[in-house]
Amino acid sequence: MNDCIEIRNLIVFANHGVMPEEKTMGQKFMISMKLYNDMSQAAKTDDINKAVNYAEVCSFVTEFTKQNRCKLIEAAAENIANALLVCYPTLSRVDITLKKPWAPIGLPLDSVAVELTRKRHIVYIGIGSNMGDKQGYLDFAVKSLEESDVCNVRKVSRFIVTKPYGGVEQDDFLNGCIELDTVLEPKALLDLLHEIENKAERKREVHWGPRTLDLDILLYDDMVMHTDTLTIPHPEMAKREFVLSPLTEIAPYAYNPVARDYAVNMLERIKCNDNT
Ligand code: ATP
Ligand code: CA
Ligand code: CA
Repeated sequence: MNDCIEIRNLIVFANHGVMPEEKTMGQKFMISMKLYNDMSQAAKTDDINKAVNYAEVCSFVTEFTKQNRCKLIEAAAENIANALLVCYPTLSRVDITLKKPWAPIGLPLDSVAVELTRKRHIVYIGIGSNMGDKQGYLDFAVKSLEESDVCNVRKVSRFIVTKPYGGVEQDDFLNGCIELDTVLEPKALLDLLHEIENKAERKREVHWGPRTLDLDILLYDDMVMHTDTLTIPHPEMAKREFVLSPLTEIAPYAYNPVARDYAVNMLERIKCNDNT
């Protein structure tokens, strides 16, 4: 979808910068934005309530830029883009150019600017617990993600009781799946999930052993990535009924770009194999 509102050179007086005079005296910044959202409903109905109100956006960005001081214009630009995505749920993407018409570097220059794009990402999280108040821990995970201002929880599956996996003798699991959208990049999202696990007194003792709360990133847009700390899609998901069953309930056509298949088909395949 390429529909977008473009705002050019909104002038804001603010205090971003590294130099002491930039922090105390402040300076002029110019902000340009492209706000991507589906305009078909607004265009069809000619109704302002179905549109992103650009007057309101300009006031929001002005206030936000004044109040959230940063040393770097990179940080200021990213914060503005993320704040817009969080505040306006219909935006799928924001492009920001943050320009300083003058920079104190002792050399003549016309202006300096940073330009960046931030998007709303659709993510599926697998959640599980097999210690203590299992339902309580899963509810806590959902609530923590709901309360985070960098995520929107869109759907939550039912929680199902499943047998433990991986050969360690332990109690049954309660498993579920969450669909959310987020402005966080994958590593930052994993850090947030670990923070929530830690708040649920998760201890990492035995691999695949008992745990109060386990939060795994199953899918992140159509991303494929592999680092020492993070693999997306989750490498085991295509083999796990306890993951695919709740995922299929909320998103049967969630697509795994490595397995090259949809949740519903992967689930069917496991069930067929179990029966043969
Ligand atoms: P499994 O990943 O097979 O379900 P587990 O959930 O029991 O096993 P953990 O001890 O919770 O494993 O996680 C070990 C590490 O796995 C994490 O610290 C994290 O860095 C890494 N990891 C890699 N890919 C992912 C992912 N997609 N989601 C969550 N953690 C991941
Ligand atoms: Ca896991
Ligand atoms: Ca995990």
